[in-house]
Amino acid sequence: MKDTCDRHEGVNAVGTCHSCGKPFCADCLSEGLEDLYCSSAECQARMARDDGIIEERNGRVDAEISEMTRAFDSRMINFLVGLWIVAAPLFVYLGSNGWTTNVGLASVMGVLGALVLCLQLRTFINMYKRRTMNRRRVELISERGKH
Ligand SMILES: [Zn+2]
Ligand SMILES: [Zn+2]
Repeated sequence: MKDTCDRHEGVNAVGTCHSCGKPFCADCLSEGLEDLYCSSAECQARMARDDGIIEERNGRVDAEISEMTRAFDSRMINFLVGLWIVAAPLFVYLGSNGWTTNVGLASVMGVLGALVLCLQLRTFINMYKRRTMNRRRVELISERGKH
């Protein structure tokens, strides 16, 4: 940007005020949550108003995300418990048919093995969940805009 600061002659501007649109140097601009504003009373008031709107919007988005996370968690738990219930007898069956003839041992190891499988899977699903929720949060924030 080749403009000079609206308030300081000969000083290069580094950005424009989001409120009045004039170019300013770094000393004259203050950083709002999403935009830069100059130090005029009017533009500072606008910054406070915009930041208030942004905070309120972010609060609503966060509430929505935690609601989605709760719903996701309960579906995940249902899925994993269901998987465990299916996998445990399968593991017990496989264990007692190949690995050992001790049915008691096969039962314990089968049930535990299926549990370990489910817990491992849970770690992966949680990684996926975090990525998805972060992406969704960014989407929601840009969808909602600010004004
Ligand atoms: Zn301004
Ligand atoms: Zn300046």
